[in-house]
Amino acid sequence: MRKFERMAVVGVALIASLAWAQVPSSDTTQPYPGTITLAVDASAATTKLFHAKETIPVKPGENTLLYPKWIPGEHGPTGPVVDLTGLKFFANGQRLEWRRDEVEMYAIHVNVPAGMNSIDATLDYTSPVREGIYTGGPTASDKLAVVSWNTLLLYPAGYDVHGITYQASLKVPDGWQIGTPLPLGTMNGSTYEFKPASLYTLVDSPVIMGEYLKVLKLNTPPTTPPVEMDIAADSRAALDFIPGVEDHLKQLPMEAVALFGATHYRDYHFLLSLSDHVAHFGLEHHESNDSRIPEDGLSKEGTYKVLGGVIPHEYVHSWNGKYRRPIGLATPDYEQPMKGDLLWVYEGLTEYLGDVLMARTGLWTPERYRDNLAEDAAELDNRPGRTWRPLEDTAVSVQTLNYAPTSWTNWRRTVDYYGEGELIWLEVDETIRQLTHGQKTFDDFAHLFYGQPSLPANEAPTFKSYTFEELVSALNQIAPYDWAKFFHDRLWSTAPHAPLGGVEASGWRLVYTDKPSDLFESEEQRRHSANMAYSIGLILAEDGTVEDSYFFKPAFQVGITPGMKIIAVNGRKYSGDLLRTAIREAKGSQQPIELLVQNADYFNTYKLDYHEGEKYPLLQRNGKPDTLADIIRAHAEER
Ligand SMILES: [Zn+2]
Repeated sequence: MRKFERMAVVGVALIASLAWAQVPSSDTTQPYPGTITLAVDASAATTKLFHAKETIPVKPGENTLLYPKWIPGEHGPTGPVVDLTGLKFFANGQRLEWRRDEVEMYAIHVNVPAGMNSIDATLDYTSPVREGIYTGGPTASDKLAVVSWNTLLLYPAGYDVHGITYQASLKVPDGWQIGTPLPLGTMNGSTYEFKPASLYTLVDSPVIMGEYLKVLKLNTPPTTPPVEMDIAADSRAALDFIPGVEDHLKQLPMEAVALFGATHYRDYHFLLSLSDHVAHFGLEHHESNDSRIPEDGLSKEGTYKVLGGVIPHEYVHSWNGKYRRPIGLATPDYEQPMKGDLLWVYEGLTEYLGDVLMARTGLWTPERYRDNLAEDAAELDNRPGRTWRPLEDTAVSVQTLNYAPTSWTNWRRTVDYYGEGELIWLEVDETIRQLTHGQKTFDDFAHLFYGQPSLPANEAPTFKSYTFEELVSALNQIAPYDWAKFFHDRLWSTAPHAPLGGVEASGWRLVYTDKPSDLFESEEQRRHSANMAYSIGLILAEDGTVEDSYFFKPAFQVGITPGMKIIAVNGRKYSGDLLRTAIREAKGSQQPIELLVQNADYFNTYKLDYHEGEKYPLLQRNGKPDTLADIIRAHAEER
């Protein structure tokens, strides 16, 4: 999973996840008897209305059906139950009553009359236009759509999702093409019949579809399982990629195999949406990822520079997160709550390796990789919330932090286990190199933990869970060390500064200059904001509204806080550039920067006695050998 937007999530209610006791718990040994058929009609996808009809083998008496709640990879109870509409049940053509569980909103109870052994359910999924996040957010435009099966089905309570078999079909708009890892049976006009699959595999295999769909083969079988990108866009022009990008993307499968030494998919599909009208995020699956970025994501340098990283990130998850999964996330169904305590591995390590692959494939230059790392390091090193909230708590709190407002992020912290996890895993890599005198690297650990045996060609993927102790034990096989203490010291620290030992050991140090990197500038442009966090301590919207004000920094100290709006800088109407100029000119001067600030209906003047100039993060060589260069160079040719 990767979340992009810093903007607040609109209109999402957090649904309590306590009371699943009302619902039968899953039996992991018995398969559900019979096959459930699921016919999804997405032929009117452009209207945001999806229909489904399900035929479910049942026993007479009370049956409990569940709407998927804890969606794998979303790390929270995000199943969009509010958009489950039009629900009706029939037995032998006769309408049946249903009632929702009074405590568990995702459970539906249906009483099946004697003599009946199957029921039909019809339901709609009314896809949001603006609200919602991840797969529960906007999923269709006029030219493309993504079908997430979990939004369009109910499943019987009390069974492991590996043991429930679905026979799914999908009707798509006329003339649209599809991409999916779900094995296809037959095709009849615009209706695709898929081969029977477990509920686990079905939910793990979304379908992208669109009027403009480009299939880009990333490797040449049979050397490795086939890897392709199925890219749907809101325009034909958006499929005209920046020169060189396709060639770099074709390095990805080779570099990933060099890194991990094995694959855990039958074939792999990058399902990429290029649209300004769908939710923007990336969601991982075993054999695919559902990533949605703006329409110009692969055709405009500025957008690609900032968002391209989602592509290798989600691919790495096939190994880290899907094949190997923290025990707390390895639940038997979508009802049992997930525990996020090891997300600094699941997401933090994926962030590290995803960015490393960006560099190893040439998708980023070494300089851009370092600029990104510098930003990451600076962001975490200037996070005052770390003095009260240890990193581990940001992982445990994922279900609440994913819905957090942007204001006060610096003090609340956010899902910092991504960026700080990246710093910690770089330090793991460097520590392995030091302990083994350069004989071993992180890649050796990756081969051990995520590598052989590869998934046999005809088997559906499944996962191997792990505990913290098993992770530590595997690291000890590569380089004996007190890894438990190493992680504990970093995960539970309330020190004011971020763990930058990996950056330092790799031959670099974090410094601040008065020139932003082009990556930094592109991010500001994309977010329509001005980031002065490291100088006066403000992040500002285009109109001067304070999005965040950093504790202990100059603006905060004079009383400027989120929600206030800067109206004027030294007597002149606010713009980001004007404030930057004022910060530059105040350097070496005795004059404070005067800000006219609106707080609701009142106007106040604040004087910022700040004279250190602009500050933007940069990595500078520190005199030690540049092992970072070895980490990020192409590796595929050697293995
Ligand atoms: Zn992720």
